[in-house]
Amino acid sequence: MGFKTKQIHAGVTPDPVTGSILTPIYQTTTYVQDSVDEYLAKGYSYSRSANPTVRALENKLTALEGAADTTCFGTGMAAINAVFMAFLNAGDHCIISDVVYGGTYRLATKIYSRFGVEFSFVDTSDAENVRKALRDNTRLILTETPANPTLKLTDIAAVSAIAREANVPHAVDNTFLTPYYQRPLDLGADMSIHSTTKYFDGHNATVGGAVMAATAELDAKLRFVLNATGSIMSPQVAWLTLQGIKTLSVRVDGQSANAQQIAEFLQEHPMVERVCYPGLASFPQHQLAKSQASGFGAMLWFEVKGGLAAGKKLMDTVELFSLAENLGSIESLITHPVTMTHADVEPAERARIGLSDSLVRVSVGLEDVEDLIAALDKALNAL
Ligand SMILES: *Cc1c(COP(=O)(O)O)cnc(C)c1O
Repeated sequence: MGFKTKQIHAGVTPDPVTGSILTPIYQTTTYVQDSVDEYLAKGYSYSRSANPTVRALENKLTALEGAADTTCFGTGMAAINAVFMAFLNAGDHCIISDVVYGGTYRLATKIYSRFGVEFSFVDTSDAENVRKALRDNTRLILTETPANPTLKLTDIAAVSAIAREANVPHAVDNTFLTPYYQRPLDLGADMSIHSTTKYFDGHNATVGGAVMAATAELDAKLRFVLNATGSIMSPQVAWLTLQGIKTLSVRVDGQSANAQQIAEFLQEHPMVERVCYPGLASFPQHQLAKSQASGFGAMLWFEVKGGLAAGKKLMDTVELFSLAENLGSIESLITHPVTMTHADVEPAERARIGLSDSLVRVSVGLEDVEDLIAALDKALNAL
């Protein structure tokens, strides 16, 4: 089956009791067992361990990403935390992309470092840097591609090959492109991580996370952390996400087409200093963007002439783009990563990874692109 058929039908069957075409929201704590000897015969005991609505979403995500199984979490950060918890012990070492979501950086440097885990923030855009950073005690490689917010890419197949040779699991944060455009497990990665908050939901309605694992053994480690820590997704969130996913391809294609046009418009605008979008020929890793994914996504960033002050004025005044932290929704959003999503990344580290104070991040939505371009043009011309 093709992706579009799977995004609608996979993982979901009509409710056996009523025929309801949508999987019901199983708002329940506990599940009555048939007998002591047949405990867990239906697979459910208590909603921290498993819930049928969440399970339907996990099954759909498994089909979309080509995984062995999926475990859902309360947020994307809970999903990343579960990957850390499942694979890292005190004294272990983790290699992580130097450009990652600010919350991932914060979790590593402010929490796991307290527990004796060491992190190397590596420029994974060159896979050889991963090989060089390997140590005897390296137990996890986490890459994010395209990376939030600079959009730096990592060659998933190349890093996965190095990881396999070293017998270290490779997890990829695939939030920005979704399995519709990029499937890390097909490229050799062991886990694909998502903030379902973003494109899977797509409507600014929920926060959630998921890890799709290449083997049942990996998934069992994550599910153990889920049950042990209680970082679960609620059935309401799973239900909304199940509905959002049915239009994933339509939204992502439409939003990406809008992003391409906006990037081309910005590139020509005299008030714009620099535009970064993987679909532009000027994007430094344009070839890799084309070869490892089937689309360029709907995230871009730019810098305006006049630096930080002008950038702030633009973000405060531009119409139609909401000044907000989320991304991936059908509403276009504009973000200043340095004060918003990446505020906990120290200035020296930001400078090292090319996250400048004047970077304006845009999550392109599904509005008429003419209206979005007109709004940007008006705000740029008023600078
Ligand atoms: C938003 C985001 C996360 C964190 O997800 P939450 O659902 O906000 O906890 C992780 N990785 C990336 C790339 C993100 O954009």
